[in-house]
Amino acid sequence: MFDKILIANRGEIACRVMETAKKMGVKTVAVYSEADSSARHVEMADEAVCIGPAEVSQSYLQADKILEVANETGAQAIHPGYGFLSENADFAEKCEAAGVVFIGPPASAIRAMGLKDAAKAMMVEAGVPVVPGYHEESQDPDLLAAEAEKIGFPVLIKAVAGGGGKGMRQVHSADEFLSALASAIREGESAFGDGRVLIEKYLTKPRHIEIQVFADSHGNAVHLFERDCSLQRRHQKVIEEAPAPDMPPAMRAAMGNAAVAAAKAINYVGAGTIEFIADVSDGLKEDAFYFMEMNTRLQVEHPVTEMITGQDLVRWQLEVAAGGVLPCTQEELSISGHAFEVRLYAEDPANDFLPATGKLLCLQPPEANDKVRVDTGVREGDSVTPFYDPMIAKLIVWDEDRDSALRGLRAAIADYRLAGVATNLEFLHQIASHAAFAEKDLDTGFIDRFKSDLVPEAAVADNRELALAALYLLLDRERKFAAEAALTADPLSPWNDMRGWRLNDAGHDDFLFKSNDQEVPVEILFNSDGYQIAVNGETFEVKGEFGANSEIIATLNHRQVSATVVKDASEMTVLTTGRRVSFSLLSDDFEGAAEDSGSGAIVAPMPGKVIQVLTEAGADVERGDPLIVLEAMKMEHTLTAMAAGTVTDIYHEVGDQVEDGNILVRVESEDG
Ligand code: ADP
Repeated sequence: MFDKILIANRGEIACRVMETAKKMGVKTVAVYSEADSSARHVEMADEAVCIGPAEVSQSYLQADKILEVANETGAQAIHPGYGFLSENADFAEKCEAAGVVFIGPPASAIRAMGLKDAAKAMMVEAGVPVVPGYHEESQDPDLLAAEAEKIGFPVLIKAVAGGGGKGMRQVHSADEFLSALASAIREGESAFGDGRVLIEKYLTKPRHIEIQVFADSHGNAVHLFERDCSLQRRHQKVIEEAPAPDMPPAMRAAMGNAAVAAAKAINYVGAGTIEFIADVSDGLKEDAFYFMEMNTRLQVEHPVTEMITGQDLVRWQLEVAAGGVLPCTQEELSISGHAFEVRLYAEDPANDFLPATGKLLCLQPPEANDKVRVDTGVREGDSVTPFYDPMIAKLIVWDEDRDSALRGLRAAIADYRLAGVATNLEFLHQIASHAAFAEKDLDTGFIDRFKSDLVPEAAVADNRELALAALYLLLDRERKFAAEAALTADPLSPWNDMRGWRLNDAGHDDFLFKSNDQEVPVEILFNSDGYQIAVNGETFEVKGEFGANSEIIATLNHRQVSATVVKDASEMTVLTTGRRVSFSLLSDDFEGAAEDSGSGAIVAPMPGKVIQVLTEAGADVERGDPLIVLEAMKMEHTLTAMAAGTVTDIYHEVGDQVEDGNILVRVESEDG
């Protein structure tokens, strides 16, 4: 086994590979771009080397630079992850020439599967079923039109170099054919520098079912069963599951055998996926599945296979790349239970799934255990940038059967607390909750068919959630004052005991929120052991405190709730199980005051009356100089300057009644 490997990737897959390497005692080297200097994959690695600016062409795609790093750090092998250099035959060759093991198939196998037409021809030869169609040399438009006619409409035109759904056109009748052909050619040329196309029968109710294969350099090849990736949006996978629902054993065996035959036909080594399309207009049938393409790398959705087989596919990759034999024979592999994976993206379903960027102000995934797994490359406080794929995490849930796993999936999605960027979290929850999904009414058209059920309208805050936001503001203020009090000379002074003051204080505060375009005032009364919060005519008796992760543990009218409240400037988000609502805070005197206090604002720590003003605007003061005297609870209290500086403003005069949090005096400190 290798002592040290380099991971030529970023994000969740780089972290995923490192996790296994760590378990195996293999040291890891991360490479990173300038935008990723504090990324999770950099933190996880034993060594990390910056390879260039944020743009992938200048960093993660810099094959030569990455090989240099491997050489300098003594890494014996390179794991390419998925994407980037993972299916780049030239890179695989360069590794070999540099004496570094490429953890992936031989360059020849990558090339063999790189072009759809050549791959199809090879599969026909190996006896693997392919979609009826035309995948020959000639590209004469009239001949292509005649072939389309022969196949029978609808047909699908595909760029031979295609990927990611690019260069694909559905054609429903002969008169649309030539213009669709021209546009597929244009897209193929601009995306892949190759305008050649092939034509296939377009299946109207297809399921995408793929087989995980593995081969070693000793001539062994096995499959690790199937994954169903039919839940797609614009040909991009959204939810994957394993095994495929309702898969007849005979079909599983036929597909597994075909996949192993395909891998053997190209002398494959390592992890690969054979993607098939199954025509389910008549249910799953063992003679109605067709080879689509082979991905010569580890797939994004490999965890569902790991969950049902109990195997670690990255470990398999390392074993095979180090020259070992496959860890299991076909007979030793079996399926246990059912697993789902959802891809959590920073994107806005309400805005046509536009990728979103921004800071992950709150990112608290559900707790991981034997059934719930979260693969991620980001942490709370990290940013989703425009430079890379906006995937935040993969959530994988396993259970004994599909129904239980689906229930677990819904619960795990609901437990996710996430704020700061738009995400598809609610969209995923809608799919996982949809009756047709539970009933296994699956095909690649599912999301389009049920679109109106799946993109939920943004939830509007209810009274309880607004009360929780108010509670957060109150608790946060207490926390800030307590922190400040700890810094003052007399921490035991009643000035600093916010709760003590509340005990006898009949004062009140108001907030003004704006939710769903409506202004909503919220009134707070302090009572002996908590607050009374009134929102829209509804009154809540509220007690609460911060728990772990700054979560609020509260009781609202005898009902326990836990919530996470995120405040970003005036934007507030309240997260509870299965709910995320946002609104804004329009007015909040004391919150601003508390934040200001570090910058020289002297704030009333409780309601009272100004009985003496001891300074004047323009006066120079030293730290500790008395500035103003308040009378509260029949006692006099002198407020002093927190730092040396110049008094710039005095906001109150003798006789004024002030509320806690009001700014009384402002002192501009000498050092600005
Ligand atoms: P790409 O390489 O661009 O991702 P694929 O050939 O893998 O293209 O196909 C992507 C998706 O397009 C498939 O998962 C499936 O949903 C759909 N698709 C592909 N071929 C057909 C077909 N013949 N009929 C219907 N849908 C198809």
